[in-house]
Amino acid sequence: MKLTVLGNNGPYPKAGGACSGYLLEEGETKILLDCGNGVLSTLLKVCDLEEIDGIFLSHLHSDHMADILIMKYAIGINKNNKPVKSIPLYLPMEDMDLVNRLNYNDAFEIHGIEEGKPVDINDLSIDFKKMNHPIETYGIRVKNGEKVMVYSADTSYNEELVTFASDADLFLCESGVLEEDLTETTPHLSPKQAGEIATKANVERLILTHFYPEYRLDKIANEAQESFDSELELSEPMKTYFV
Ligand SMILES: [Zn+2]
Ligand SMILES: [Zn+2]
Repeated sequence: MKLTVLGNNGPYPKAGGACSGYLLEEGETKILLDCGNGVLSTLLKVCDLEEIDGIFLSHLHSDHMADILIMKYAIGINKNNKPVKSIPLYLPMEDMDLVNRLNYNDAFEIHGIEEGKPVDINDLSIDFKKMNHPIETYGIRVKNGEKVMVYSADTSYNEELVTFASDADLFLCESGVLEEDLTETTPHLSPKQAGEIATKANVERLILTHFYPEYRLDKIANEAQESFDSELELSEPMKTYFV
């Protein structure tokens, strides 16, 4: 599998940046994990929308879905002039008012995400686990038969994520808040907690993401190194990682 980071900031981007969006490819199959603000623009640098086989939104916070509200025009308007396929869009169905605003001219074929109900797209099997976050949020586990990639979505510390990420070849984990800013109610992981989960889950490789734009990246890396001593990287926009 091939993972390209389309945006790695949250909950708003740094100058020239984009929020959560990750393109995962297996051969000709392409799926998009999250579609935050700025992601449509970066996605179009690497492929056409017609090539996308499915989109998965971990949750409906704006930094993970805002560009769906724009992508619906990119697909829906063109549908009047040429045959463009609807893209299957999988998301939490908790907020139906919001879900109903996401479509335009059948740009998307909308499906609800359900824990324990994996979705198969060509050679990829995609599974979901509920995370601890203020709204309905799912971690996403993708396997291609032999390799496994797990995406934490947004979450506070939870042991369920250790189990869900177990033995992943690549664990893409949010690290939205430094230890010094963490409180009991913070709905995010610190880099140190991300490292702890990765260590307990015995993952091969940890890639941190969802960076608050005001933080220094070296602080994030240093914190994660305290709790994880295998292969660790900070996600970089437009960089591709092979799983
Ligand atoms: Zn977020
Ligand atoms: Zn969130």
